[in-house]
Amino acid sequence: MKSPILYLVIPCYNEENVLNLTAPMFLDKVKLLVKQKKISAKSKVLFVNDGSKDSTWQIIEQLSASDKTYCGISLSRNRGHQNALLAGLMEAKDKCDITVSLDCDGQDDINAVDKMVEEYLNGCDIVYGVRSSRKSDTFFKRTTAQGFYKFLKFMGVETVYNHADYRLMSSSVLSELAKFEEVNLYLRGLVTLVGFKSTCVYYERNERIAGESKYPLKKMISLALDGITSFSVKPIRLITNFGLLVAFISLIGIVWSVVIALMGNSVSGWASTVSIVCFLGGIQLLSIGIIGEYVGKIYLETKHRPKYIIEKKTND
Ligand code: UDP
Ligand code: MG
Repeated sequence: MKSPILYLVIPCYNEENVLNLTAPMFLDKVKLLVKQKKISAKSKVLFVNDGSKDSTWQIIEQLSASDKTYCGISLSRNRGHQNALLAGLMEAKDKCDITVSLDCDGQDDINAVDKMVEEYLNGCDIVYGVRSSRKSDTFFKRTTAQGFYKFLKFMGVETVYNHADYRLMSSSVLSELAKFEEVNLYLRGLVTLVGFKSTCVYYERNERIAGESKYPLKKMISLALDGITSFSVKPIRLITNFGLLVAFISLIGIVWSVVIALMGNSVSGWASTVSIVCFLGGIQLLSIGIIGEYVGKIYLETKHRPKYIIEKKTND
């Protein structure tokens, strides 16, 4: 088998503090693998600038000028990690045999790429990078993230436990991925849907080398909501089931109130009435909210807006 062309696809958003530190690590890894003849000399490190407001794009341009293994594309504005990643993968799709997507902050241990490439050469089309532990996370991030994976499973969404977006994909997987047109992107879910032969490679997740997390709680919640509502209608089904339960209880309530009235004790009961009204009001609003979330998704999907716009590329 000819050695495959590998593209490392690395989304970057306001990463001027870390890019100059981690870029050489990516480059060294690619060069080493080329030297070991595991990958082709045409392999590249592709940065995706996700509309950064700092000097990230200038750094990417400087890097590209310094070594032709580096290249980059720049999105016209910030579109979020998932869109930026997809932009990079689609850019790489026709130029390479395999991509490995990873964060630019050094958290995804670059040494796992060796094993990923090996698994590809053994015949796997997707290799998931799975964290062997979450020691480097804060207590908050660890519990919310793991709770989220369990919740997704409960909702019937198939995902790989403790796998984020560090993964190898072959060009055949990428061509299939390109056919998914949805704008509410949750790549982890999509990739498992694509199928193909896959396996996991375990790695120790490090701390961020420099800079701050670009995933504040708000973005994490929005990703989580996308993950659930793009892949599962179970929340709506739960509402239906709950509605049935409440209807059944109401039936008992009606019988009960009629009996009380017939017995002539119908004056008291203010507290119970108010509680029932409040409870049902809350449940109804929550249910409308959940259904609204899906309607909103449909609204966004029908527009068929582009997920990202590439404004600039480094001349590779
Ligand atoms: N990122 C991006 N666009 C965004 C937010 C993040 O491209 O709007 C990139 C970021 O530069 C990094 C990766 O996504 O390479 C993961 O983000 P981060 O490390 O901040 O997330 P965390 O590891 O804290 O979950
Ligand atoms: Mg990170």
